Amino acid sequence: MDKLDALKRYFGHSAFRAGQEELIDGILSGRDVLGVMPTGGGKSVCYQIPALLLPGITVVVSPLISLMKDQVMALQQGGVAAAFLNSSLSEDALRETYRRSWAGEYKLLYVAPERLFAEGFLKLAQSLELSLVAVDEAHCVSQWGQDFRPSYLKIPAFLRSLPKRPPVAAFTATATGAVRQDVERLLELQKPLTLVTGFDRPNLDFEVLRPRNKGRTLQSLVEQRRGKSGIIYCATRSTVEKVCADLQMMGYPATRYHAGLSEEERRQNQEDFRFDRRPIMVATNAFGMGIDKSNVSYVIHYNMPKSLEAYYQEAGRAGRDGEKAECILLYSGADVATARFLLENGRENEELSPEEQETVLRRDRIRLETMWGYCTATGCLRGYLLDYFGQEHPERCENCGNCRTEFSWRDMTREAQMILSCIRRVEDRLGYQVGAGLITETLKGGKTQRLLNLRLDELSTYGLMRERSGQEIQDCILFLMEKGYVQRDSEHGGLRLTKAAGNVLFQGEKVEMPCRTQRQPEPKPERASRRREKEPAAQTVIKGTEDLFQTLKRLRYRLAQKENVPPFLIFSNATLTDMAAKRPRNMVDILEVSGVVEVKAEKYGAAFLLAIAEYEENEKGDA
Ligand code: ADP
Repeated sequence: MDKLDALKRYFGHSAFRAGQEELIDGILSGRDVLGVMPTGGGKSVCYQIPALLLPGITVVVSPLISLMKDQVMALQQGGVAAAFLNSSLSEDALRETYRRSWAGEYKLLYVAPERLFAEGFLKLAQSLELSLVAVDEAHCVSQWGQDFRPSYLKIPAFLRSLPKRPPVAAFTATATGAVRQDVERLLELQKPLTLVTGFDRPNLDFEVLRPRNKGRTLQSLVEQRRGKSGIIYCATRSTVEKVCADLQMMGYPATRYHAGLSEEERRQNQEDFRFDRRPIMVATNAFGMGIDKSNVSYVIHYNMPKSLEAYYQEAGRAGRDGEKAECILLYSGADVATARFLLENGRENEELSPEEQETVLRRDRIRLETMWGYCTATGCLRGYLLDYFGQEHPERCENCGNCRTEFSWRDMTREAQMILSCIRRVEDRLGYQVGAGLITETLKGGKTQRLLNLRLDELSTYGLMRERSGQEIQDCILFLMEKGYVQRDSEHGGLRLTKAAGNVLFQGEKVEMPCRTQRQPEPKPERASRRREKEPAAQTVIKGTEDLFQTLKRLRYRLAQKENVPPFLIFSNATLTDMAAKRPRNMVDILEVSGVVEVKAEKYGAAFLLAIAEYEENEKGDA
């Protein structure tokens, strides 16, 4: 069996994606490798295929129990002998897994980094023929990464303790140079073949919305996507609670996840989501690493995350099956203040010295600014992301919110001057800073008791923007904040002018605000697929096959319930789409469907063939 046979036979894919073949060849030739690929890019097969082709056993170091469980289940579904060792196993199951490992029954054994030096495991690893050690989520070794796990630092000592060091294959989706270097150095990789594949995920559509009312906008977004699975990320636990309760009250099948819930509830909710019993997950960023649910078709950020890395990783959980999927960020200026507050008041990492903490904080501030830049960008959003990850790209992708939007620029220098001077005068009068609400009131010439008590009606800027709506004024203030003319105190919300404001007030600097209008979609010329293979690429269900697709989905759901596995582990949406289009008639045809491997064809093929045949009968009957 060669690598391509293995890809087809165990994973049901007919060609490799960019980078996979090179990494597999590297490992097979005995080299260390470092694979940097975006979330959903297909890192797992890069070590799973060598594991199948090499003699002996591959140890996979993986940080999360849920991640291991999913991977092992998916491998077992495809007929691969794999197992995991972690604290979720009962005594009996642990003993049985060790027994079978000693008997050499597995090709892949997943372990948590903490277990590497557990006596039982170390002895096993030293006695078995290890053909490869794969390190998943390798950025966990770096304290600059987002998910530093000190136990990852023990991996080199583990390797040194082996009678013969096998090749080491490390994988991560974190693209920044500092983290990559750390991975190479701290894992002691030996002249690794390093491969950074494209970070573009062409099937993802990016969009930033600036809703006046996030709750209402979210509801209509979810409604438009009824029947689909999605994740809604919120910045805080309390927002998760509120958003989830609102959605549930409106009858949507939502569940929630954050670190404040009991372990049992987190586990239950995560399972409900994975099994599509509750296909909408509302969560903080505690949810995600290790969630390998392939049919998530949208990820909505209710708040702006704290870095572009975090955003791309979270948003990247959409469309892992290659289907078209959406990543929508609901932005408001208030998010920036919240993110700043969380950053400046975050918990200290006790493992870092004060200087290191200061460095981390400085980096985090820059990350936040970059994230903010994404939310307020007027150019191509995909381009903005790819720029950040250091990848070339065309100027426009024609597949993001900004490419669909026409921007015109409105001169608002006069309005800016009025607002800035009002902020200054109010502060001069009161001796302290006030929030956007009171500034707006003053400019509108309001008569609230508070305003009158403070005698703000005596200011020369009082009522200067009388003819504008409060919302318009607020939008202008937000824009001035975005542009850095105004800063908001993250604790009290008071506004103050920055140095740059002087340029507008006294030097005649022009302020132009982008106005957005939706562009009419133009028929797009067919573009050559970037992928090198015939995946049922980035397409939603082909017209005319929707009905059959739904029938197959229902069958999948029934089978999944019977076997107590998540539906996507039986077949992904991409596979069902392809099946609905190809309509296989026998066991040979069904193997032509993308994602159908032999073992699964044997197990589920008959049921799906029958469903297709019945569907066609009914079709004839209806005609
Ligand atoms: P990562 O670990 O990089 O986030 P995965 O290894 O989980 O990504 O793969 C993401 C998805 O891509 C999975 O659904 C997998 O089946 C699919 N995939 C991987 N390699 C290929 C391939 N060569 N052809 C088609 N699909 C692939």
